[in-house]
Amino acid sequence: MMHPTLKVLSRIVAITLALVGAELMAVVEPQSLMADPAIKSALAAIARNEPETINEQVRLTEIPAPPFKETVRGLELKLRFEQLGLKDVRVDKEGNVVGVRPGALPRPNVVVAAHLDTVFPEETDVRVKRKGALLIGPGIGDNGRGLAVMLSLIRALDEGGVKTTGTLTFVANVGEEGLGDLRGVKTLFGETLKGQIDSFIAIEPGPANRITNGGVGSYRYRVTFKGPGGHSYGAFGMANPIHALGRAIAKIGELKVPQNPKTTFNVGRVNGGTSVNSIAFEAWFEVDLRSETMAALEALRAQFTAAVESGVKEENIRWNNRAAVSADLELVGFRPAGQTADDSAIARIARASVIAMGGIPSFDSGSTDSNWPMQLGIPALTLRGGGQNRGAHSLDETFDTTDAHLGPQTILLTIVALAR
Ligand SMILES: [Zn+2]
Repeated sequence: MMHPTLKVLSRIVAITLALVGAELMAVVEPQSLMADPAIKSALAAIARNEPETINEQVRLTEIPAPPFKETVRGLELKLRFEQLGLKDVRVDKEGNVVGVRPGALPRPNVVVAAHLDTVFPEETDVRVKRKGALLIGPGIGDNGRGLAVMLSLIRALDEGGVKTTGTLTFVANVGEEGLGDLRGVKTLFGETLKGQIDSFIAIEPGPANRITNGGVGSYRYRVTFKGPGGHSYGAFGMANPIHALGRAIAKIGELKVPQNPKTTFNVGRVNGGTSVNSIAFEAWFEVDLRSETMAALEALRAQFTAAVESGVKEENIRWNNRAAVSADLELVGFRPAGQTADDSAIARIARASVIAMGGIPSFDSGSTDSNWPMQLGIPALTLRGGGQNRGAHSLDETFDTTDAHLGPQTILLTIVALAR
């Protein structure tokens, strides 16, 4: 019989070995998955179906989905989820479309998401032109590619007969872009699937070897300057909201920010005034402040608010506080900065998946839906749908379809490894 102390020790050793084993498995799994006939067949299905995936990408891109107006494109995704055999397909209160591919067990639950929304306003011509391997049109990559890849994954998993222990939940979510402010994932994690998400993969455009494990945080403000206003000649001598705005923007333009962590600022919109011969009663600008860490972001925010205050103060002093101008700061967007460690299990699985598909893994940072779970401490990455995307958020966005199938293939390995 074993001595009780020895028994405890051997148990500790056994548990430690099991834990180490689990970690090692996590690393080698995508490589070993390649030997599984079902996986092989699913990977082959992705390559075989890629021309149809491209057609789907074009079709989905041509359904307009401006911020806060994702409903029509969402219903199309709901229909496709149902056609592809997902279970419990539903639209949550925010507009996220959710469908489940059950495994043997409900957990781990791996959520795979692609955002529905674009940055383009309703009247934008979203038709896609094809020139050889190139697709040209606003939103063709971001996120027409992400949505089409998600559908390609669901189809390939079925055609390959891939079975998972855990569950895969697919989500076409709203509100990733701009002032959407991650409202889709916030509701997904806070309500719709609260407490039921073990890992999260967002799909965005880009080459298959990119692994986005840094979440760039941002604050976005609309700053409104107000004063009584008046005639440009008759009322001359009073503080001017547009002049105060100009002073504030000039100061923002001079802000010093660190290169590392990368920290940035941009005044992206300016508006105000009623006519050339009036002192405006109102003017506003919108600013975007970003950083890879919360500390640097908070420091930048403090500098920015000081710049606005001093711009207003200088304008008022200039005119001896006659008809003083005031500024109102409205927070219109916040995305927390976050990080998934390079050596976390999810990052190691993604890296191994890239290598298994013949790529060289490249870690980077971005501002995507993954920011939200990263900040919650839930393992999360943004992976890329393959091909090459240029000019995202511009009217001549271009997607190069060459070898684009490597995107969904790499993601398939990752999500199956996570759900094992
Ligand atoms: Zn995107």
